[in-house]
Amino acid sequence: MPELPEVAQFKRYLDATSLHQQIERTSVTDDRILEDISPQQLGRRLKGRRLERSVRHGKLLLAELDDAGGWLVMHFGMTGDLRYSKTNAEPPPYTKVLLSFANGGHLAYISRRLLGFVGFAKDMDEFLAGKKVGPDALADDLTLEMFRDRLAGRKGKLKPLLMNQSVVAGVGNIYADEMLYQARLHPETRADRLGDEAVERLYRSMRQSLAAALEVDADWGRLTDDFFLPHRDGDRRCPNCDRELGRTKVAGRTTLFCSRCQKRPA
Ligand SMILES: [Zn+2]
Repeated sequence: MPELPEVAQFKRYLDATSLHQQIERTSVTDDRILEDISPQQLGRRLKGRRLERSVRHGKLLLAELDDAGGWLVMHFGMTGDLRYSKTNAEPPPYTKVLLSFANGGHLAYISRRLLGFVGFAKDMDEFLAGKKVGPDALADDLTLEMFRDRLAGRKGKLKPLLMNQSVVAGVGNIYADEMLYQARLHPETRADRLGDEAVERLYRSMRQSLAAALEVDADWGRLTDDFFLPHRDGDRRCPNCDRELGRTKVAGRTTLFCSRCQKRPA
């Protein structure tokens, strides 16, 4: 579930707890969570280093090691989490990777299922390009024109396109529903049927929905009543017209929408 606003919380948490401390040891309890690196290699990369700063790009959190030692990369899948402890207590359940710092603290990367990953990148830009990760959905330099270009020529349905990390990075199943609702677009609208004005509406709703979620620290309970997510998760009624929300599957993912406010394209 962690999408851009939730990963932004992980970034804040990492920054508040784990920067500038020497890493003494890296324990990997399940090798399958690692991507393109062995536990031994990861341990060697991290040993004696410090996490100096972090960058969130889409749903990825990247932490740079000191002395240009590369980047620790984390993807949180559906159930990922971070937990810092100052003591030597037992790591939390489902800890897959544990960084132990010289000052006695520990940072646990937790994943109940194996959908996320932990990896290592020598260079962040090369890594993102290699993974074909598109621009961050909230990046300052992702302009309306760029967004338009990225949708141009795509024939697929809108919802899976928004969730395609190579188109824009950071949007998943939940926030896609929010932004499609805010733009008053049916999730199965084909991208190549969108007029210029609808693309602009979608761009604005994407930026505004994500920015609003960041503003409330991804706590939907604090969103105003005209947002979709609290209703999607709650009374399942449209915040605009009060109609019961429709429910369908688009590209295999549960999708809620208002059949009155988000008309199915003819
Ligand atoms: Zn409605």
